[in-house]
Amino acid sequence: MNLAKEIKNHNPIALAKGITLLESHLRTDVIRAEELIKKCQPYSGKSIRIGITGVPGVGKSTFIETFGKMLTKSGKKVAVLAIDPTSQTTKGSILGDKSRMQMLSVDKNAFIRPSPNRGLLGGIANKTRESIILCEAAGFDVIIIETVGVGQNEINVKDIVDFLLLLILPNAGDELQGIKRGIMEIADLIMINKADGKLLNEAQRACQIYQNSISMLSNEKKWKVNVEICSSLEKKGIDLVWNNIKEYTKQMKRNGFFEKNRNKQINIWLYQKIKEEIGNRRYQKLIENGDIQKIEKRLYNNGENINDIINSIINID
Ligand code: GDP
Repeated sequence: MNLAKEIKNHNPIALAKGITLLESHLRTDVIRAEELIKKCQPYSGKSIRIGITGVPGVGKSTFIETFGKMLTKSGKKVAVLAIDPTSQTTKGSILGDKSRMQMLSVDKNAFIRPSPNRGLLGGIANKTRESIILCEAAGFDVIIIETVGVGQNEINVKDIVDFLLLLILPNAGDELQGIKRGIMEIADLIMINKADGKLLNEAQRACQIYQNSISMLSNEKKWKVNVEICSSLEKKGIDLVWNNIKEYTKQMKRNGFFEKNRNKQINIWLYQKIKEEIGNRRYQKLIENGDIQKIEKRLYNNGENINDIINSIINID
């Protein structure tokens, strides 16, 4: 099967195979994967990349199922990729559980892929970033990256998405203590999930508390972070999320942040890849010699391919 061609023909089997290739450690596969990314890259970039984070049990998969179905019904093609560094110790809260996202997993306009199970956080973010490229080439226009917001990984996910949604539980008191300030600062929207039944009043109170605390936080993008309530189970308030994302995209494209952020992310990807390929010490040397600027120039001014640049550095070195 010609993977690149089939991916560009929107073949989901080819897409799944392509992502498996990206995750392989075999040297021959690594070379094939680089070739594949190179061929798919010109067809990528057009989707909206959404990160969804929150503690285990907050309702991420329930939310994604409801949200994803809403989008596919409106004609969108939705891909869901998961990053779960905790899966080795928590019996796979994201990975491999077939009962999760039952409706979405059989939707022909959706593609769901569990996490590459690797030890390295940076590595996972990079593999996910490359998987995004393949999904976009395969015609997906909304890419959802699901991640557990407990460790450092939400900072990583910020490096690969356009918009970050934080889901929280209605019990505000405990949560305000449990959620790190860092996560609140990088979220573009905070949704209090499970705002239904007995929890509705509590969710409304929590919403007030979060709205007050968020207004004190600074925001470099001049974006007002909204706090809203929703019920993924009862499918209420989910449209608010999409409205926020649409408005955010409009504003960030207008003020230039959208493009600036994506360029910054390409840089992070480049640095991470170089580090992975040549090791930290040689990477430090590149910085000391000022060679890193030359690399950036080749990427941005000459429009060279990221993998070609890395290969040429390794050959020269
Ligand atoms: P995840 O670990 O963050 O992916 O959470 P899940 O989606 O697996 O949900 C954890 C539990 O919360 C499940 O029992 C869900 O049925 C429940 N849940 C999820 N969303 C809602 C909601 O909006 N309302 C209520 N009442 N329960 C929900």
